[in-house]
Amino acid sequence: MHFQLNEEQQMIQAAAREFAQNEIVPIAAQFDASGEFPLETIRKAGELGFMGVEVPEEYGGAAFDTIGYALVVAEISAADAAHGTIVSVNNSLFGNSLLDFATHEQKQRFLEPVASGQAIGAYALTEPQSGSDVSMMRGRAELSADGSYYTINARKAWISSGPVAKYIVLFVKTDPDAAASSSISVFVIDTDEPGFRCGKTEPKLGIRASATCEIEFSDYRCPVENRIGKEGEGFRIAMSVLDAGRVGIAAQALGIAEAAYGAAIEYSRERQAFGARIGTFQAIQSKFADMKVRIEASRLLVMQAAWQKWNAKRRAHGIRSTVVSQNCTHRRRLCS
Ligand SMILES: Cc1cc2nc3c(=O)[nH]c(=O)nc-3n(C[C@H](O)[C@H](O)[C@H](O)COP(=O)(O)OP(=O)(O)OC[C@H]3O[C@@H](n4cnc5c(N)ncnc54)[C@H](O)[C@@H]3O)c2cc1C
Repeated sequence: MHFQLNEEQQMIQAAAREFAQNEIVPIAAQFDASGEFPLETIRKAGELGFMGVEVPEEYGGAAFDTIGYALVVAEISAADAAHGTIVSVNNSLFGNSLLDFATHEQKQRFLEPVASGQAIGAYALTEPQSGSDVSMMRGRAELSADGSYYTINARKAWISSGPVAKYIVLFVKTDPDAAASSSISVFVIDTDEPGFRCGKTEPKLGIRASATCEIEFSDYRCPVENRIGKEGEGFRIAMSVLDAGRVGIAAQALGIAEAAYGAAIEYSRERQAFGARIGTFQAIQSKFADMKVRIEASRLLVMQAAWQKWNAKRRAHGIRSTVVSQNCTHRRRLCS
């Protein structure tokens, strides 16, 4: 057992840190105040491969492992939690839905533009009356008589990147009378097609630059070839993607905690009270020690979870080594 990041992982961590500190930190407060989606930095993140970290090069990604992905999310979240959320949704919720369950043609059409950062992806499961209990979902997709398209009517709530997404992985019922585990199917939606509209934007207390809104489908026509997997597989796909996404969520929390710790240390070196810098007081030092222990314990858990997820993925996809593609364009750009 060893605890050292390999050369590849160190490289992507350093590249993500440099990008996050130079490009995101200077604009984070301004975008948090305005709530504007940071399209420009997200495009740059895409050029560096951060919008499809684990996606193979043939589908526009950077072809790194899950540890590389967790490192990217932690570094970006340390600079700004909103950018971290956008990156996480694009990579995990949208990216994994396609990567793990879509056909080669679907990956070429929908994953490639999103993983390369040319388009934004989103994931729509939640409805106003249906959160943790997915079975309460009311959204419907009905197959046309000739079997060539579905008519979708649905209202989804709390959709991260909803106002800017070009493609959305959408979960709706195709057989409402079936058991919850087999009633739902999943489709990729092109938001430029008629029948789609964004509803109200959520005025959040934090991560404000990560735009979150309701989305609505009124007689939206979805070609049958946009269905991912078979009819009725939506619940299994949704749960599998959410499980994998927890590594990204944990990495977000780790990055935010590290940034908070750094800021607290810095402040304790500036702030004077009772004739001394507050960082010299034992009670403050004790708090820092507790914070550091928790952060380091979290780091070990996050990295272990990422390593386990990557090993599971390697087994499922028959990938032999950690390095998927040495000549990946993103990889060359990161190294230069
Ligand atoms: C910032 C933000 C971004 C989001 N982005 C997306 C997105 O991109 N796509 C998407 O589909 N959804 C998104 N969501 C929705 C999110 O996934 C839901 O909020 C989540 O599924 C919980 O649903 P709910 O809010 O309806 O809470 P509920 O399901 O109503 O839960 C309310 C409370 O009850 C508790 N509870 C629920 N069930 C049980 C149980 N069985 N036992 C014990 N306690 C229980 C919960 O822990 C919680 O405390 C987002 C939410 C937020 C806040």
